[in-house]
Amino acid sequence: LASPDGTTRPTIFAEMTALAAATGAANLGQGFPDADGPEWIREAAVTAIRDGANQYPPGRGIAPLREAIAAHQQRHYGLTFDPAREILVTAGATEAIASAILALAGPGDEVLTIEPFYDSYAAGIAMAGATHVTVPLVPDATGFRLDTDALAARVTERTRLILVNTPHNPTGTVLSHAELDQIAAAATRVDAVVITDEVYEHLTYDGQVHTPLATLPGMAERTLTISSAGKTFSLTGWKVGWACGPAELIEALLAVKQYLTYSGGAPFQPAIARALSEGDADIAELRDSLSARRDLLITGLRSSGFDVVVPGGTYFVCADATPFLSDTVPDGAAFARALPELAGVACVPISAFCRDGSSTAAALAPWVRFTFVKDQATIEDAIAGLRTLT
Ligand code: PMP
Ligand code: GLN
Repeated sequence: LASPDGTTRPTIFAEMTALAAATGAANLGQGFPDADGPEWIREAAVTAIRDGANQYPPGRGIAPLREAIAAHQQRHYGLTFDPAREILVTAGATEAIASAILALAGPGDEVLTIEPFYDSYAAGIAMAGATHVTVPLVPDATGFRLDTDALAARVTERTRLILVNTPHNPTGTVLSHAELDQIAAAATRVDAVVITDEVYEHLTYDGQVHTPLATLPGMAERTLTISSAGKTFSLTGWKVGWACGPAELIEALLAVKQYLTYSGGAPFQPAIARALSEGDADIAELRDSLSARRDLLITGLRSSGFDVVVPGGTYFVCADATPFLSDTVPDGAAFARALPELAGVACVPISAFCRDGSSTAAALAPWVRFTFVKDQATIEDAIAGLRTLT
């Protein structure tokens, strides 16, 4: 049985985590935290289980969580959503993204993503039978920037959906206001719906500001804003996500979602409702701690001989492994597979986020991604291993 991208291989994240476990390498591959989220939020889920939140919640999600999501969007971004009709709780952002693509695109429709892209997008587009079109991010002195000429050229009457991810996995790019303006103009020109994946919305550094595309003039009516609690509260295994947007788009998502999972996460929903309402201090603490671990990893990578692009957000740093490539280790994919043995470190090749044979895959072939959402000691171990490469 082949997966939607036509292969039977596990995702690159599962593969690299298995390799790290088998070799005892420091796992800077898959992006999940070493440290679980705040105890008071975990206790809230335990209490919810004791209090009987153990059967199917409503398909849309429990009302207190939808209300907390609405209040969060209002407080942080000034966005107004009706919790009764304009918010849907999903099994992680992943289910919201899959439901949106399946609900809104089909054969003959083009879905545009930013390349490199998170792996589930390509699978969702393939499951919908739609056509995947990409616009590259290109590294320059300020980081990986959107190729806005390619954007203007590739958004056409066939474009049904534009899937935007900011802060961006794997590059860490926080799209600028100017880049978001160009996306908004392109979507409006061809009357496309925009899906935004904002799961790293709170994880930005150096004063960079995350702007939801839905806050741009005229965009709320054509944008589905998707996020989840996994990254914000270091609870990636809880899989509580959501989509916010116009009622008719949310209805379309619900129509699909009800046959994917129907509903989910009964005891986690009240706990995340509380986290969203009372957890701003925990979010600030996580951001500061991640910012320091980002700096530690960047310094370590540079002193080991890597060229890195400083990420404005997310869990990830991208590094150019060119100095370490050879006839036997010709690209980032081979380097990532060899690194656990060579240096006791696992990472992920950027080519795993690209279409086979694309110009972006070729341009970024020597690049790999390291995550810094790990304990300081794990990052220090990894750096000690990387320093032995030269
Ligand atoms: N989008 C991006 C960009 C991600 O990096 C991830 C996973 N880490 C997800 C979506 C999936 O989020 P969730 O675990 O809430 O499904
Ligand atoms: N989003 C995480 C990453 O990019 C992994 C999630 C997954 O394994 N599907 O590393």
